[in-house]
Amino acid sequence: MQVPLLDLKLQYRALKDEIEPKLKEIFEKQYFILGPDVQSFEEKMAGYCGTNFAIGCASGSDALVLALMGCDVKQNDEVITTPYTFFATAGAIARICAVPVFIDINPDDYNIDPDLIEKFLDENAEKRDGEVFNRKTGRRIRAILPVHLYGQTADMKSILRIADRWGLPVIEDSAQSIGSIDGNMGKKAGSMGEVGCFSFFPSKNLGAFGDGGALTTNDENLTRRLRSLRVHGESKRYFHDEVGFNSRLDAIQAAILEIKLKYLEEWHKGRQKNAEFYNKAFGESGCSGIIGTPEVLRGNRHIFNQYILRVKDRDKLVEYLRENSIGCAIYYPVPLHLQKCFEYLGYKEGDLPESERASKETIALPVYPELTESQKNYVVETILNFYR
Ligand SMILES: *Cc1c(COP(=O)(O)O)cnc(C)c1O
Repeated sequence: MQVPLLDLKLQYRALKDEIEPKLKEIFEKQYFILGPDVQSFEEKMAGYCGTNFAIGCASGSDALVLALMGCDVKQNDEVITTPYTFFATAGAIARICAVPVFIDINPDDYNIDPDLIEKFLDENAEKRDGEVFNRKTGRRIRAILPVHLYGQTADMKSILRIADRWGLPVIEDSAQSIGSIDGNMGKKAGSMGEVGCFSFFPSKNLGAFGDGGALTTNDENLTRRLRSLRVHGESKRYFHDEVGFNSRLDAIQAAILEIKLKYLEEWHKGRQKNAEFYNKAFGESGCSGIIGTPEVLRGNRHIFNQYILRVKDRDKLVEYLRENSIGCAIYYPVPLHLQKCFEYLGYKEGDLPESERASKETIALPVYPELTESQKNYVVETILNFYR
């Protein structure tokens, strides 16, 4: 038996008859960049996320850059974020010549730990003329950028309380968490902070046929600014108020996403069902001391973009699963504070112990909604065999 980590062909087969005529229509119209299909998807996306506005762009990475620019993060400003995430989170901060400040994670949900954000600010920050400065570096601290990792929101109630206390905007990296709900807030990912950033990379729960991204916000002025920034900072055609860049969602992707959005809830449910299956099987296996299943905290709704185990002998398990034709992955093997490109920030091993431990102990299993009963059983049996 073979179990890939993700198989998008099955989803495509189910939607082929709906997607292909829509694509033909766009080919006939030859209207590819922004336009009515993008606008229509943006409205649906805002409705789904529970925000007033959604702004399409070229990728999740660009959404993060646009969000930082839209929140006036400038060169040398510090942005508080997590080191245990996909590279783009901190890459976006560095790309606008700002400085990531990494705060360790909570080992239970792998998301940034609000107590440690508060501790960092209490020990290092001071308010001057309504702005927040890092006393040690002299730099301005300009934003907090939590990531809702794997499909579960970070502790937004606590993060927003701290952000409010210091007057900092919160940018939510929601790339892995479209449709997840924060239990304390009763709100969806991307609708709680200043702005939410989404990716439609094919492997996300809502995936395009290529790259795509979006931002969500309730702020009308910010929306106007983001719509301008994605077309080189244009206010009207060929008049530029500031320097933006080219980051647009195209009509083909928007049309596909609008079709797929109708099925997203169903797919979330399929993933949740698979996660429950694994939780139950590993929980009852007698291996619960060796195999840690994912925790859903604070009454959250987890959408399981990834199903993550915390295990003993992780690297050997990865090898064993590959030998047995089971797809798996490590998200992420090197926390960002230890990446070569961030050496200049001066972090060293041991600085952020929970992120470092997670990078050595976690493994992602196939959880996509089309998995069959026998595939899931095979995954569980193979893993249990390895530990027996
Ligand atoms: C996928 C992802 C991104 C980047 O999205 P792209 O569309 O691939 O640029 C950013 N942050 C996180 C947490 C992601 O998982």
